[in-house]
Amino acid sequence: MDSDLIIVGSGIIGLTSAYHIKRQNPDLSITIIDKAPTYSQGNTGKSAAAFRNLFTTSLNYSLSNSSIDFYRHIQEDLGFNIGMKFTGYLFLVTHQIPGWSEILEERGLVKWMELDEIFEGAVITRKPSPDASDIIGLDEITGGFFGQKCGIMEPDLLSAFYYGELKRMGVDFQFNTEVRHLNLVPTNPLNYPGEPYIWQDKTIGGIETNRGTFRAEKYILATGVWTTSLLDPLGIDSHIRPRKRQIFRIGGEDIKKILYSSKLNPDRVAPFIVLPHAGVYIRPNPKENSIWVSASDNIGRDFSFTEDPLPEREFYDLNLRPVLEAYFPAFSSARVDGSWAGYYAYNTINRTPYIFRSLNVIVATGTSGSGILKGDSIGRIVSAVYSGDEQALLYDGSSIEVDKFGIENHSLERELVVL
Ligand SMILES: Cc1cc2nc3c(=O)[nH]c(=O)nc-3n(C[C@H](O)[C@H](O)[C@H](O)COP(=O)(O)OP(=O)(O)OC[C@H]3O[C@@H](n4cnc5c(N)ncnc54)[C@H](O)[C@@H]3O)c2cc1C
Repeated sequence: MDSDLIIVGSGIIGLTSAYHIKRQNPDLSITIIDKAPTYSQGNTGKSAAAFRNLFTTSLNYSLSNSSIDFYRHIQEDLGFNIGMKFTGYLFLVTHQIPGWSEILEERGLVKWMELDEIFEGAVITRKPSPDASDIIGLDEITGGFFGQKCGIMEPDLLSAFYYGELKRMGVDFQFNTEVRHLNLVPTNPLNYPGEPYIWQDKTIGGIETNRGTFRAEKYILATGVWTTSLLDPLGIDSHIRPRKRQIFRIGGEDIKKILYSSKLNPDRVAPFIVLPHAGVYIRPNPKENSIWVSASDNIGRDFSFTEDPLPEREFYDLNLRPVLEAYFPAFSSARVDGSWAGYYAYNTINRTPYIFRSLNVIVATGTSGSGILKGDSIGRIVSAVYSGDEQALLYDGSSIEVDKFGIENHSLERELVVL
């Protein structure tokens, strides 16, 4: 064996899983393999890196709420800057109040706010023009639900924290190493051709990479959206689908009027704003004096997958911009000065992560567009599954049944707030 444990994938889920397993088992030898030249170059590096504890299911709430506490601990107590800013999340709404808001209000996670309590000056057009109303179907904004324990952070800095800690604890990293397939072998080989036969017990005996075979006793696949291509040949279902998502960076002087319009924090940085139509959102990016915009398009967006997805400029021009401009006039003079695209590893049933064991492999995927903000808790659950525990203890002291993320007893509670 090259190591006791091999983790494939050095995105946030591979890093947090390794961190918690190594802390629980200091003598364990762990190798983390990634095809990229360094850590977090997959979808972790492409994310909007916003965080919120605003989820309707109890599982997603627990994962996010505790991870936010741990990330705050990293930044405030350990003094490691991860770019965490509590700008808040604002869901703008029209006369049609969304059903989920009641659940979040009851739990005290959001409060209703008038626009003039939030924004300085006239950055928002409350009532879109008759054209925008008729053609796009936009309605008047009546106010918003504001969540306080929410904001933005920097995934490269967060990942750097985990990477530094893992190096310090002696975890081995093998970059530029692409896993091509997992070798399914009989637990007790007879050395006959065509093994393993259906009547033999099976295990993963090694992983084939562009740099030769690596072997360990156990494996973790923290390969996000790529998990399907590694599991399909083995007949193991990843239970996820790729959902393309793209981000457009918008700069210019007028955009600063939106970016620094908040009355709610000393830096005046605007909250992460979700518009009341088509899941269009605005993510403040004060580090570069810009704003990132995106949307959660589902119907009409196919499930195809390419290794390096490209952003579609017309998606911004024809889909996002009309909605943005109708509510925030500053977008009419703004320019796109950068863009990129990636994928959510999407659990189409209930939008909750999948963490399950099959043979000697633990699979952790299905983060459904919120893997960074739930990353620390997911790492703790993977560690519990590795140790064979039924419950995982989260940073905030709560415990969570690991089975709910598995296949047999997967929670059927469906998340309502997915961006
Ligand atoms: C546009 C966009 C916006 C997002 N916004 C947010 C947000 O605001 N907040 C939030 O919390 N989440 C957000 N997400 C989701 C978040 O990025 C993911 O949930 C998270 O990054 C998943 O982490 P991961 O470690 O599972 O996957 P990844 O970060 O994709 O890591 C998988 C790793 O596996 C490696 N790998 C894959 N196959 C192989 C192989 N065969 N051999 C070796 N290595 C391999 C890859 O190189 C990669 O490094 C967003 C995602 C996108 C695309």
